[in-house]
Amino acid sequence: MFDNIGRKLKTLAKVFCWIGIIGSLIGAISIWVSGSQASRYRYSSSSTLSIAFIGLLVLVFGCLLSWISSWALYAFGEMVEDTDAIRNSLESRGRRPSYLNTTEQKSIQEEKKDCPYCGARNSMENTTCYACGKSI
Ligand SMILES: [Zn+2]
Repeated sequence: MFDNIGRKLKTLAKVFCWIGIIGSLIGAISIWVSGSQASRYRYSSSSTLSIAFIGLLVLVFGCLLSWISSWALYAFGEMVEDTDAIRNSLESRGRRPSYLNTTEQKSIQEEKKDCPYCGARNSMENTTCYACGKSI
């Protein structure tokens, strides 16, 4: 249910963006429709023009605002996704970051690895052999 939160957040950002765009489109259309109905009684071309302009403003700024505000959520989703990817790649290599100091981490540290050059028993966290100094 809470797997792939990053991807869910990104989808949510897209959904919010589209809701905002559709909402501003509906808002603009309703302004135009009510404006054209009102101008039918007044026969004023200047008010029709200003209503058309207000509708256009609502449409453009509504779309822009919902688009820009979805960036933050999208970026956060991407960040979570990237963090997951980094953690997964670290876990698959058996090397967890030190701040994730769990029992799993300790069991990895307690394991030993043999140096391929001299056969000395090295701790798993060693990158160079303590006996011969070669990288392992
Ligand atoms: Zn060695």
